[in-house]
Amino acid sequence: MDWNTPHLGSWPAKLVLGISAKIRSKNAYTQKSIDKQNARDAERRRKRAHPNQIKRGSDDHGDINELGEREYSAFDGDTLVDKVDHTDMMHRLAHHDSFDSLADQAGYDIRKLRDPYFDSKEMAKMAGKLDESAERRVAILPDEIWMRICSHLDAVDAASLTLATKTINEKLGNAALKVMNLPENRNLRIKFVQRAYDNRWPDDLFCFPCASYHRRTNPGQESLHSQFVSRPIYDCPNVRNTVLPRTRIAHGRELPYYFMQLALRESDYGARFGISHDDLQRHWKCKDSTWKHRTRFMVHDGHLLMRVVSTTFAPPDLAPTAERHLLYDREEFTPFFSVCAHWRDGVLTKICKCALSHIPRRPDPYLAQIKRAPKISRSAAHPNFIVTGCDTCRPARRCPECPSEYLVEVQMCEDKSDPVFQFKHSIVVTRWADLGDGRNPYTSPEWLAINGLKSSAGEGAPEFESFSRVGRRAVSGVFESRISGSIPGQRMASLNPKNEKLGEEGDGWY
Ligand SMILES: [Zn+2]
Ligand SMILES: [Zn+2]
Ligand SMILES: [Zn+2]
Repeated sequence: MDWNTPHLGSWPAKLVLGISAKIRSKNAYTQKSIDKQNARDAERRRKRAHPNQIKRGSDDHGDINELGEREYSAFDGDTLVDKVDHTDMMHRLAHHDSFDSLADQAGYDIRKLRDPYFDSKEMAKMAGKLDESAERRVAILPDEIWMRICSHLDAVDAASLTLATKTINEKLGNAALKVMNLPENRNLRIKFVQRAYDNRWPDDLFCFPCASYHRRTNPGQESLHSQFVSRPIYDCPNVRNTVLPRTRIAHGRELPYYFMQLALRESDYGARFGISHDDLQRHWKCKDSTWKHRTRFMVHDGHLLMRVVSTTFAPPDLAPTAERHLLYDREEFTPFFSVCAHWRDGVLTKICKCALSHIPRRPDPYLAQIKRAPKISRSAAHPNFIVTGCDTCRPARRCPECPSEYLVEVQMCEDKSDPVFQFKHSIVVTRWADLGDGRNPYTSPEWLAINGLKSSAGEGAPEFESFSRVGRRAVSGVFESRISGSIPGQRMASLNPKNEKLGEEGDGWY
């Protein structure tokens, strides 16, 4: 027997049913009373929707009370803001970065979705319809004032304003667009087109050599591959050509610029516009050497940051030739690890060789020592395996000409293929680099500096000054604090303390 359900035959249940039959009128359930109630509810809703039609107190004074004050309340129609659906607003506030399903399908601006007052239904209405009163206000201002306003804008803003509405276009004419069409303004034109369409066309990607948009062949499924030339992500006549901008990651690997665009568009406008920067990270073994490489990417402040960790086992007491064989590839004589365009000028290869010189020898047992000569060395029998480096090779280094930072360390790593000596010393070269904002490879200061290129903006283009741009934190600090929660403890020094630019002619690098 269930003790919670009342027994209908019991006297308390009979008493309750009897009393309720007396109190409750049967009239509440007739069709007539239901219609009456519905009409009353409809009237109440109408009053709530148009509160201004209700006259309270004296007609002349509106809702001014006896103290001469106007009363506003948060929950009826008299407030200054538009009527808001508070439940809807609370639901939107509860969203935290989880718009990737529905919202991304709809292609909304992610910043708009974070706004609790944003109503997705309004978007379609706003896109097509133009406020006529605003159009009239634009038309009232004389042409000269619009021209004056336009003269204070830069070329791209002026061209955007010219195309804003038909009325403005009639007032301003097409002068700003003609300026945009000049051959020397190619980069401004690129900026103008990208600003107009980049956040509207998720399935197209801007190609800089062609200066036009190409359709992405496999949107959302793009994957960075070492043979990226044979797997084009869009249909472009230049796709198998070296004119498409790219940067060297490590020996035999390059990062095409369009993957940067995809990662930064994804972070700016949403998942439909590109691929996550996490999808760019790779882990591979070099096919021409014993080096292993690990890349990781991060978007910070609208810039794509890259970290490449390269490592290889390094035996102690290497001869100079063996050191070179370990560090350089024998065709191009470039290091196997990740480097910027200025690696020959600084002390980078010097500090790599310095770090290699600190690798301790294997333990030399006392018995073996005595067999050779009648003296023993405790430090040879028990060498210190923790290598801290010296003042030359310990600090992290920042390239004075580009946003690249290097850290060279010697660490113990496990070699699973060696049954005798499982743990060996290896040299670990880490490079952090700021690859820029992905807006234009011909003018982006970071991208040009890293690749040692000249800006196509001409002679007047500003030089990249690495140390003035570090600001509060270096790239390595920003990267590591975000990824691992701690920043590298090493102090930062210049990669080229003497600022000598000898390039290939300098003999120190080899
Ligand atoms: Zn193209
Ligand atoms: Zn050293
Ligand atoms: Zn550099």
